[in-house]
Amino acid sequence: MKTLITGGTVVNASGPFVADVLVDGETIAALGAPDSSAAAAWRDGADRVIDAGGKYVVPGAIDAHTHMEMPFGGTYSVDTFETGTRAAAFGGTTTIIDFAIQSRGTSLHQGLETWHGKAEGNCAIDYGFHMIVSDVNEQSLKEMDQLVDEGVTSFKLFMAYPGVFYSTDGEILQAMQQAASNGSTIMMHAENGIAIDVLVAQALARGESDPRFHGLTRPALLEGEATHRAIVLARVAGAPLYIVHLSASEALDEVVAARDIGQNVFAETCPQYLFLSDRDLAREGFDGAKYVCSPPLRPESYHAALWQGLRTDDLSLVSTDHCPFCFKEHKEMGRGDFSKIPNGLPGVEHRLDLIFQGVDQGEISLGRWVEVTSTTPALMFGLFPKKGVIAPGADADIVIYDPHASHVLSAQTHHMNVDYSAYEGLEVRGRASVVLSRGTVIIENDGYVGVAGSGRFLERGLNGCLR
Ligand SMILES: [Zn+2]
Repeated sequence: MKTLITGGTVVNASGPFVADVLVDGETIAALGAPDSSAAAAWRDGADRVIDAGGKYVVPGAIDAHTHMEMPFGGTYSVDTFETGTRAAAFGGTTTIIDFAIQSRGTSLHQGLETWHGKAEGNCAIDYGFHMIVSDVNEQSLKEMDQLVDEGVTSFKLFMAYPGVFYSTDGEILQAMQQAASNGSTIMMHAENGIAIDVLVAQALARGESDPRFHGLTRPALLEGEATHRAIVLARVAGAPLYIVHLSASEALDEVVAARDIGQNVFAETCPQYLFLSDRDLAREGFDGAKYVCSPPLRPESYHAALWQGLRTDDLSLVSTDHCPFCFKEHKEMGRGDFSKIPNGLPGVEHRLDLIFQGVDQGEISLGRWVEVTSTTPALMFGLFPKKGVIAPGADADIVIYDPHASHVLSAQTHHMNVDYSAYEGLEVRGRASVVLSRGTVIIENDGYVGVAGSGRFLERGLNGCLR
């Protein structure tokens, strides 16, 4: 099966150029000048020709931070691997890296097997796993080495959520030492959970139970402090560090300082920290519960610093931390006690569009848009050059993106399995019009035309961003 994508502007991280793209089977076979004799011959030999005139041809986006079917506070995030990966595809995302979880008292492999069971045969797009380590001990440290060999090359630890995922500084240091020896990357949820739990208890004792107190009890200073501590521990261990869902200047300043002295420290931010704010968390009635995630949404004044971080590469990439809970059924559990509201926002479908608004508004370049949504995630998590680039030999994960189409984000029209949109009514410019996953068209004419289960597990290599 040969497909020719013709007349479009290819955009890689290095920037845009005009080229026709020949897809042969599951991979990109060649790029050619549109009026070349080679391209004309490809057209004659193609089984299918896709007209990309006036559109961008970009590498399929990679969302390196999702939580499908994730247990939290007695319930589960509501997107399954089937519904979540299909919604991702609608938005131009052709790879997710989800988090398998080791529960306390079990092994890493038990957790990984459970997540393989959830995902296998259900995904619309390719997927990989990070491993959440919530029980650092002799056995799990040894297992980290084995997981690296099985293509799970990044491990997430938590400075937040005491009693659930929390690790002590000593445990974190041990995991980092293990990562330093096996070449993997430690990912960190950097908030000081011990101090936060005190603030939460004090607030509830004062009768402060509304959703907005979720934000007020998780101050940015405690994200900055934990980020600093994680960076120092990583320096002592000599391990690369990746800060997940960075939301605040206090944390970004620590990342900048570490990068300025050449330490292998990286950070992602998420669309919600660029487009939403604590004002959403303070919405009337109980509506703020829709916006409860951790770290919490910050004041709007933080947005500029995060865009600046994306421009300067101190923020390496954008992931969603997609972790949807329904407003009616799940967020309601925290009425009268904000600490019982399940943490997480839906977003896997909208990342490419939202970050494209940054191009439209002059915050980042077209190439940087591709870099932070596809190329760097591929490099960082050992998928490059199979993923993250339009080049011969790469997987034909391709998005034909119409920069002129506009649409309104809404729970009425989105494909995520959740009863509200965090961006309800927001009009965005740009939209994925055709999406290919390894050479097969899976999205066209606003419809899903793929097959659940065509997405494959990706064994990932080591971090390609290290200096
Ligand atoms: Zn997360």
